[in-house]
Amino acid sequence: MKQKKNIILLGSTGSIGLSSLRFLRENEDRFKLIGVSAHNNVKLLSQIVNEFNVPNVVLSNPKNANGYFGNHELNVGQSSLIDLAKINCDIVICGIIGMAGLHPSYAAISVGNNIALANKETLVAAGKIFIDKSVKSKAKILPVDSEHSAIFQCLDEQNINNLDFITLTASGGPFLKTPLKEFQKIKPKDAVKHPVWKMGQKISVDSATMFNKALEVIEASMLFELNSNKIKVIVHPEHIIHGLVHYKDGSIIANLGIPDMITPLSVALNWPLRVDLKTKKLSLSTIGNLSFYEPDFSKFPGLKFGWEALENPYCSPIVLNAANEIAVDAFLKNKIKFTEIYNIVEKTLNFYSPSKPKNIGDVIEIDKISRLNSINFVNMV
Ligand code: MG
Repeated sequence: MKQKKNIILLGSTGSIGLSSLRFLRENEDRFKLIGVSAHNNVKLLSQIVNEFNVPNVVLSNPKNANGYFGNHELNVGQSSLIDLAKINCDIVICGIIGMAGLHPSYAAISVGNNIALANKETLVAAGKIFIDKSVKSKAKILPVDSEHSAIFQCLDEQNINNLDFITLTASGGPFLKTPLKEFQKIKPKDAVKHPVWKMGQKISVDSATMFNKALEVIEASMLFELNSNKIKVIVHPEHIIHGLVHYKDGSIIANLGIPDMITPLSVALNWPLRVDLKTKKLSLSTIGNLSFYEPDFSKFPGLKFGWEALENPYCSPIVLNAANEIAVDAFLKNKIKFTEIYNIVEKTLNFYSPSKPKNIGDVIEIDKISRLNSINFVNMV
């Protein structure tokens, strides 16, 4: 019998975590879950531990530990989370949201664990440092973000010099057809309704502002070591094509599929092989037509930060990401308007004088300062 791959799942109770569990449940013969973490949701974490019989368990927020009823010992706190990521395994899946994913992801690759990375903040904020480390430790980075998984699958390593550019597709979010004059009135409950993907609140708002695509431009630049002028974005509301690689001979290789995170997860966890997923498959004749538009920068000005931040690739992406997290949080708490998210990020970016972080500690420091700066800007609104 073939040996099972040992998997550690960080952020098991979030949207990526639940998709991962769905995949693991259907592929028990190939994979064994040996570690799980959650931040707050102790009830669901306990259920996962009992269902999958997971020996290594971490709740990163110790406050909720009392509610734990799993069959294996519970470890709590941030340092336990780092220790979990370092346990020798075949692949660590990182589905943690936001900057909280950086330390454990970095810890995982530092010890040579391969990583299926869904946490885009890791690559956005610490991309260069992270990639350098993975080269040294020989850890593979397997993208789970659907657009990056698409590019990863379409890239032909032998012809990298003949690559012209790549295109990331964007669904355009819930306000693609909303007139600009109505943007002032957008409420959190409208912004979290994504037309294609069911996701967490933060990333849904990022899709609505198209900041998500700005972060993805940076993510792609880091992951595939491409200059910003080699990355394009096109709005494609059906979101059937996830990414395209354009070669200099005029050929374009595209990746298509039903928008379901289980496919990119499966690609990452089985790479370079594929498995038969018992999931709904794409029927082109049912879809009929696919449409494409240039992004509207007057409605979604935040998108341009994807390219602008790459002018200072070590620092500006950290500031951009931090400011956006604060601004989105303020919007979700009804402290600022939807359109002010962009203003807060722009002010924070202009306020900070770029420096070059040398390690993860420096990244965290720039992140912290940027958060404080953007909180100040929020309070001035
Ligand atoms: Mg994506």
